[in-house]
Amino acid sequence: MTAQPSVVVIGAGLAGLACATRLLASGAEVTVLEARNRVGGRVEGGHLADGTPIELGGQWLGPGQNRMYELVADLGLETFRTWNDKGRMVIDLRGRRTTMRSHKGAVPRLSPFALADLGQGLARFTALSSRVDLRRPWESPDAHDLDGQTFETWIRRTLRTPSGRAYFRIACEAVFSADSTDLSLLHALFYSHSGTDLETLLATDAGAQQDRVVGGSIRIAEAMAAALGDRVRLGEPVRRIEHDTAGVRVETRTGTVVTADRVVVTLPPTLAGRLEYAPALPSWRDQLTQRVPAGSVIKCYAAYDHPFWRDAGLNGQAASDRGPVKVTFDNSPPSGTPGILMGFIEADDGREWARRPEQERREAVLACFARYVGPQALTPVQYVERDWMAQEFSRGCYGAHFAPGVWTAYGHALRTPVGRIHWAGAECSPVWNGYMEGAVRSGETTAAEVLAAG
Ligand SMILES: Cc1cc2nc3c(=O)[nH]c(=O)nc-3n(C[C@H](O)[C@H](O)[C@H](O)COP(=O)(O)OP(=O)(O)OC[C@H]3O[C@@H](n4cnc5c(N)ncnc54)[C@H](O)[C@@H]3O)c2cc1C
Repeated sequence: MTAQPSVVVIGAGLAGLACATRLLASGAEVTVLEARNRVGGRVEGGHLADGTPIELGGQWLGPGQNRMYELVADLGLETFRTWNDKGRMVIDLRGRRTTMRSHKGAVPRLSPFALADLGQGLARFTALSSRVDLRRPWESPDAHDLDGQTFETWIRRTLRTPSGRAYFRIACEAVFSADSTDLSLLHALFYSHSGTDLETLLATDAGAQQDRVVGGSIRIAEAMAAALGDRVRLGEPVRRIEHDTAGVRVETRTGTVVTADRVVVTLPPTLAGRLEYAPALPSWRDQLTQRVPAGSVIKCYAAYDHPFWRDAGLNGQAASDRGPVKVTFDNSPPSGTPGILMGFIEADDGREWARRPEQERREAVLACFARYVGPQALTPVQYVERDWMAQEFSRGCYGAHFAPGVWTAYGHALRTPVGRIHWAGAECSPVWNGYMEGAVRSGETTAAEVLAAG
């Protein structure tokens, strides 16, 4: 019998934890080196002053994310429905405020012309995205043409009405935390297909925002890490990987050195590119990591004694073309109290508002909440925010996006191991790319790849 390999996993986010769990179960010797003093990475828990758990990073699960639901059940955790049905959602487009029921496929009340325009735009986008090859997007039909334009170019060419264009731009910010000018059309199509379709990514019921984990998504990472015990080493930012045909030597900023047969790097591409490799990585791998930036987002919470918006027939959800917060949700706990409104400052708004003083940002966020659900929103009992661009070991969220030309020129380098160095993470997954589901699947796939390599 061949002995199983020894493996260093870099990063204790969901991908790293899932990878290490699989490796350990197969008899491999595993060490997880995590830079932060906590596990979870882009999944992070916190508490309000009254002890209510809040989720500062990734939180929702939805249909199709089967691995996450299995994991939640295996770890003895439970999910609950996102608050959605207790009223109508606010749509604030081009200075006109309307409300509507929030269900998958629902479209805002628009003029017949705008409605027809939006309908044809969505149909065209879905048809194009369903043709993208999820494993090798660069080999999809018309890949070079699709990758040679931004999402914004397509929006301008395809949508005729200002409302139709606004819908797609808001959708882009909400899904990618990036502007439609930032990313390749091929990437927008790939990503949507990877998570079923654009409408699924945008929907609450029957969509990617359907469920939450009781007590917070961080409980998943904490339970996985607990099972790995002292194999997970916190406060160990890796700075250098030496690799040759015999094995790997991984060194952290604290001077810790771990040698092993193989290493799995689970960092988002841009952070993986900041590590020192000896010998240096091939040009195609390094150039890929130079071109896959993280999105820009600040997640904002305001807590109230009770969810007062429900008294006015609103469900706390809003979508608007006026920032800085353009998208909100009711993030109250299962009991319904306290009432919690959560909103994202995304893309260009994220970049701009990150540079302003916190007090100014708080006032602007609360003014948006008040515009959506009423003036009571101006006086929360507590306000909390997390700027993900400022987190040294994330440098942006929700995930990374591919600029024009990158999938077709460098897509092949995303998952291909370099000698004894393997890659994992939400960005590496062909399915639910950028989501917790993608992170877990990618970690498990890479564990199998490492075991097969011996
Ligand atoms: C605000 C926000 C909202 C989101 N919403 C959702 C959602 O609702 N649903 C959903 O499915 N997904 C959501 N996501 C995305 C989801 O959280 C991520 O896709 C997923 O958690 C990524 O997991 P990962 O393991 O691939 O990467 P990460 O979680 O980034 O893990 C990488 C790990 O590597 C560590 N690290 C970095 N540098 C080093 C180093 N030099 N040495 C050692 N360790 C290092 C990091 O600290 C981190 O722990 C959201 C993300 C954010 C931030």
